[in-house]
Amino acid sequence: MPQQRSPEPERKRGTSTPPRDKDTPWHAEAVCRRDEAGLFFAPSKEPTAARLSREDAAKRVCADCPVRVECREHALVQPEPYGVWGGLTAAERRVLLARRRRRAVTTAR
Ligand code: SF4
Repeated sequence: MPQQRSPEPERKRGTSTPPRDKDTPWHAEAVCRRDEAGLFFAPSKEPTAARLSREDAAKRVCADCPVRVECREHALVQPEPYGVWGGLTAAERRVLLARRRRRAVTTAR
């Protein structure tokens, strides 16, 4: 759930994460709760190279986030039009949503 946040200490890849408390909202465990580095949303008039670099940095944070799946689904269902959510940029989410829609139409026939 990208909001103003900064990456907290990153978890090591491949380490198992403890099971989540199902009564706790997924965003309570968001690694990016305070995005002080401003990684997840573009400032206005951001040059392309800076955007790509910022998005890669945000995705690295997402890669180790324990609620990445929930976050991604939230961003797809809403849909969230801006920012990196669940390791996907807005453009990547649009592509994924278009694929889902096409799949839904195909299976409905
Ligand atoms: S997956 Fe990324 S955007 Fe979503 S809560 Fe985790 S760190 Fe934030």
